[in-house]
Amino acid sequence: RFSLDGETAIVTGAAQGLGKEMADALAEMGADVAIADVNLEKAERTASELDGETEVIAVEVDVTDESSVESMVEDVTDRLGPIDVLVNNAGIVENSPVEETPIESWRRVVAVNLDGVFLCAKHVGRQMLERGEGRIVNISSMSGFDVNVPQKQASYNTTKAGVRMLTQSLAVEWGDRGVRVNAIAPGYMRTDLVDEVLAENPDMEETWLENTPLGRLGQPEELRDLVVYLASDASAYMTGTTVNIDGGYTA
Ligand code: NAD
Repeated sequence: RFSLDGETAIVTGAAQGLGKEMADALAEMGADVAIADVNLEKAERTASELDGETEVIAVEVDVTDESSVESMVEDVTDRLGPIDVLVNNAGIVENSPVEETPIESWRRVVAVNLDGVFLCAKHVGRQMLERGEGRIVNISSMSGFDVNVPQKQASYNTTKAGVRMLTQSLAVEWGDRGVRVNAIAPGYMRTDLVDEVLAENPDMEETWLENTPLGRLGQPEELRDLVVYLASDASAYMTGTTVNIDGGYTA
């Protein structure tokens, strides 16, 4: 039931970090995978690293741009076949207090974290609905549940909460047409994104750890089994759910 043999998956923002780890996990379970990222050079390096038993390719996409998303979906379908699994992982953080945040910064975060999920779900979803079959996994965050004190990232928190509701909305619209949509809400996992936050605020790690019952940050590889579960028939009766994986932070 966990097998993804012969299936095709797209993971956005998979040139590095959690996306790369999840792409590798899907490939390990038998899927051909498209590493879809705005950074094509890095995506190509990642794809050649992961290419092996199954086919792993790099494709360029800016998830904020509808025509770019459309041509990415077409390109992947031409090269790997119809898409069975979409992981909407591309996301960015900008830290700044609301009273000092330029509207451009707010819009950048909304564009990647929310428009991006909407656009990829829309265009991959169309194809899945036609086939009456598909699974979408959106990457939210524990920040979509709780505001992490003392962080100042209202735009990030708001978009990640939005991803949860978009997940529920898609699940309800598409449930009787064969397409399941779930989300993962990770806690702090050691990636570049988290290292950047810590570089700006080194004291934050201690506060995070104090608030994490399991007493440590997560490792990217701890997402592997969960994404495979949600992407495969193992989760056949699940849709519209956001699963927390955060060492108990939001408990
Ligand atoms: P990361 O910064 O390491 O990687 C993000 C990737 O997204 C990069 O490869 C980047 O090039 C790509 N990207 C950025 N803008 C894009 C665009 N417009 N179009 C296509 N690709 C784009 O981040 P990460 O830590 O691996 O996080 C991945 C996802 O997980 C994000 O949605 C993030 O919000 C979420 N998340 C991360 C953590 C964590 O602790 N790292 C916790 C909770 C949620």
